[in-house]
Amino acid sequence: MTIVRVALPVPLPQVFDYAAADATEADVGRCVKVPFGRGDRNGLIVALGNTADVEPARIKTVHHIQREVPALPADWLALVDFVARYYHAPLGEVVALALPPGLRRADGVSDADEDPLLEIGEAGRRALADARRPSKALLLLQALAAEPGPWRRSVIRAMAGGEAVGDVLRRGWLTAIQDEGRVAALASGAQPELTAEQARAIEAIVGGGAGFRPWLLHGVTGSGKTEVYLRLAAHALAQGQQVLMLVPEIALTPQLEQRVAQRFAAANVVSLHSALADGARSRGFVQALTGRADIVLGTRLAVFAPLPRLGLILVDEEHDASYKQQEGVRYSARDVAVWRARQRGVPIVLGSATPSLETWYHARSERYALQTLSQRAVAATLPAVHCIDTRRLKLDEGLSPGLQAAIGQRLERGEQSLVFLNRRGYAPVLSCPSCGWVSRCPHCSANLVVHLADRRLRCHHCGCDGSIPHACPSCGNQDIQPFGRGTQRIEARLAERFPQARVLRVDRDAARTRAQWEKLLDTIAAGEADILVGTQMMAKGHDFPRLTLVGVIGADASLHAADFRAPERLFQQLMQVGGRAGRGTLPGTVLIQTEYPGHPLYQHLGRHDFDAFARMALQERRSAGFPPFTHQAMLRADAPALDDAVEFLRHARRLAEALAPEGLRLYDPVPMRMTRLARRERAQLLIEADQRGLLQAFLLSWIEMLYRQRTARELRWQIDVNPLEV
Ligand code: ADP
Ligand code: ZN
Ligand code: ZN
Repeated sequence: MTIVRVALPVPLPQVFDYAAADATEADVGRCVKVPFGRGDRNGLIVALGNTADVEPARIKTVHHIQREVPALPADWLALVDFVARYYHAPLGEVVALALPPGLRRADGVSDADEDPLLEIGEAGRRALADARRPSKALLLLQALAAEPGPWRRSVIRAMAGGEAVGDVLRRGWLTAIQDEGRVAALASGAQPELTAEQARAIEAIVGGGAGFRPWLLHGVTGSGKTEVYLRLAAHALAQGQQVLMLVPEIALTPQLEQRVAQRFAAANVVSLHSALADGARSRGFVQALTGRADIVLGTRLAVFAPLPRLGLILVDEEHDASYKQQEGVRYSARDVAVWRARQRGVPIVLGSATPSLETWYHARSERYALQTLSQRAVAATLPAVHCIDTRRLKLDEGLSPGLQAAIGQRLERGEQSLVFLNRRGYAPVLSCPSCGWVSRCPHCSANLVVHLADRRLRCHHCGCDGSIPHACPSCGNQDIQPFGRGTQRIEARLAERFPQARVLRVDRDAARTRAQWEKLLDTIAAGEADILVGTQMMAKGHDFPRLTLVGVIGADASLHAADFRAPERLFQQLMQVGGRAGRGTLPGTVLIQTEYPGHPLYQHLGRHDFDAFARMALQERRSAGFPPFTHQAMLRADAPALDDAVEFLRHARRLAEALAPEGLRLYDPVPMRMTRLARRERAQLLIEADQRGLLQAFLLSWIEMLYRQRTARELRWQIDVNPLEV
């Protein structure tokens, strides 16, 4: 009897043995359907087992091994195994996260090409030569003939007149290229001449050779990091290698997706992100696995794409918090990517205008090689940054006279302005001035936010919502007031103040779907909006040449936040959003409304001096003993009653005391800052050590113990290694 070891998506830290009469070594890495409990589960065979370890009477038999798809290779199994060990998560849960659901379910998966690479065939050339009656199809064919091909069908479809592509194909004017290997590396589309700094960075990184080497590409906003990625990718493709390109949020980066697809029209560019339909995600994954994908472009989960010909990893906006998964397996895709580059012996480029302090510190201490782009590629200069001291000003719905005047000037010149406020909704709370009632969420320790656009009160944490009451629910007072300001309120005021302007709000409420988001981006790019009011959605990666003014309001709130990472996040956010200004040929200005104009954070920002800010922030972290000078893990527990959560953590701490090696610091269990979320009370216990190895070794035995504890009903706990929020 052959035994297979199966990783199953259950919260248990072990693999499960099953009998499989015909299984061989070649089945390791294949998906499998097995009986589990009262039902069936889909899992992954991670090893063959030993008959001696199991009682023959108790062993169950697998239902089905999925052999239509190639097995996942050994290096991929080593990758998920690393993630399970490093983040102390059950292997089966890591596998479930890494594999597309369709693949795990062993649905039939086809990697057939839905997006063939097309060139003009014999019939097409004839059609061009014959002077035919012009049709949409012919117009499209003529447009294509004026460009160097070949093209992906999806790229043609996105062109002007691209609807006719089906017609062109039916007429046989375009034919699919069978041997794709020969053309994958052909760069198409216009390529700009590199700036001296770009050229130097590319030369250094390519010259660094094929082996593992981590690079930090620290380039100011608008310095053309993307062009550097594209050239590096072209180089790897020319060697017949695959490229993995990670971006923080694909919904926010359709521009990048398009640029990659256009530049490498001939390459098979596969997108992987959680918003894809099951079938598309499985297909992309299998194309990566079989080596047919040339470039895998995706969000954090794309770090798990199997890539047999991997030659280069690119991580754009490496500082972005969305690389860290905040639930389930709490991995950081950036950190996993670095591990993967080492495992596979390939270079990795982490790019950012505002690197995370961890990465910046690695570059300073020469663990990472550094390339700097200090100049913008197109614009002559970085935007001028000024603080508007609001201490003695009368604000008009939060807007200072100076900011309003600046917006007015931009309107006159036909330029765009962006008012940045990282708070959606109309007002953060509704309150009653007569009895003090405020709109609290019944399920969370948070307020319900006023959304006037659709007249709802909504919790931004648990999503619950209700209508806006006409009178105070507590005293009946009719005069209840929205208190404070969100994007909707600023939008309303700006529309009143500048009736001639087209005001456009850009936040998650305005862009619920990817289609809505792309439409907003198109509107802005087409110059059909004059004043934008946006949240951090507007901070990332966008390039609008006519946007010349960024006004920042409400930033002070983050200056004094309790989280030790708050200043880093604020600086990054302001530098990124400020970086949207003046990217074209028009100069940009950033105006920050603040009551602390002398604050060093704003001062460094004003000089665009990331390094000075980072040195200061790291100095503070060193003296306070925070990462990257210590290593942290957080045990969190949640339950309907706070006492249960805290009691579990106290018990966990007692167990830890008995195990803890010298040099490990155990803090006291405390309620989380936002204690109640979606009717569950939450508490946390911080563990710290100066050496990563010490912390990891301790966690291994401690967590094994925790799994064996009986816990209160409905109590859940999770471990978070390198937590972002402390
Ligand atoms: P970053 O990602 O560093 O903020 P981008 O890659 O978005 O910057 O580049 C900013 C702008 O500069 C884009 O419009 C891009 O097309 C343009 N650009 C980049 N490199 C060059 C170059 N070498 N010559 C001309 N334009 C360039
Ligand atoms: Zn009242
Ligand atoms: Zn809530």
